[in-house]
Amino acid sequence: TTAWADDPLALARRVAAGERRALARAITLVESTRGADRDAAQALLAALPRHETTLRLGLSGSPGVGKSTFIEGLGCALTARGRRVAVLAVDPSSTRSGGSILGDKTRMERLARDPAAFIRPSPSGGGLGGVARRTREAILLVEAAGFDAVIVETVGVGQSETMVAEMTDVFALLVGPGGGDDLQGVKRGVMEIADLVVVNKADGDLAPAAARTATDYAGALRLIRPKPGDPEGWPRAMTCSALTETGVVAVWDAAEALDAARAATGAKARARRAQAARWFRFELEEGLRAALAAHAPSADLARAMERAVAEGETTPAAAAQRVLARFLEL
Ligand code: GDP
Repeated sequence: TTAWADDPLALARRVAAGERRALARAITLVESTRGADRDAAQALLAALPRHETTLRLGLSGSPGVGKSTFIEGLGCALTARGRRVAVLAVDPSSTRSGGSILGDKTRMERLARDPAAFIRPSPSGGGLGGVARRTREAILLVEAAGFDAVIVETVGVGQSETMVAEMTDVFALLVGPGGGDDLQGVKRGVMEIADLVVVNKADGDLAPAAARTATDYAGALRLIRPKPGDPEGWPRAMTCSALTETGVVAVWDAAEALDAARAATGAKARARRAQAARWFRFELEEGLRAALAAHAPSADLARAMERAVAEGETTPAAAAQRVLARFLEL
């Protein structure tokens, strides 16, 4: 990345001109954790043009539910309509394994060959917070490069769904055609952030079960308070078949209708600003944590205090106060 890091403004111009190689390099740059690369990445991001009218769709679902089949079908339909489609991923497992199954091009071969599409697997390492940060920055990069339909996929593990909802305009949960049991398995918190629950595999023998499941979800969603200002009928449940590509584009059209309604009232822009403000607080907290870890006397004392707390020699709050006092004397 170093050669490109030397001239982030030139890189920004090439990204804005829609050069794919420059876009790939730019994403590699924002994924780098080296200090000099971080500085160059921030200069790059600051120099990018902003596109406010893009639609960022978050898509979550357990492994095997049909995410890659759905995204491939949707992505190809959208590029046929003249949209430019970027697929990014937030995969919490990539922080441990160093690799990601999400956003893998081999899972979406047809879309990967489409010149109007751009697919990027999840960054790895740095914990879920680090993965989320780099994906947020990648969103800004693909939008600057002219991709106006941005799909961010995640598996429903830990906080990954909340993280993805926090960086997208509309959030969809993809589920299978299971009955009431499946519904129990979906965390209530995820139902609360979902704008759309999409029951996939509504085809063949599974079609009746999928329809029943969608009715169950529609009932559960009615018990959830709508997001303030949203039009009547949201959040909603739908069925589709990614395999037969039935109802897939309808999911996008519904998301786009919701997004347009929010844009018309100013709610979309407000939501993006609120997301940026929360992202700032996250960066600040991460920065403080990193500064404390990098300050040897504080870090040493923190380790000693952790042992003391574990031994019952002091209370957690008193121990934290001592470490903070040491750190703030800097
Ligand atoms: P992911 O792990 O969520 O990305 O799921 P995949 O897209 O890889 O799909 C998992 C399996 O479900 C594959 O064998 C797909 O062919 C199958 N599948 C995906 N969508 C559908 C669908 O709409 N109907 C049926 N019957 N099978 C599907």
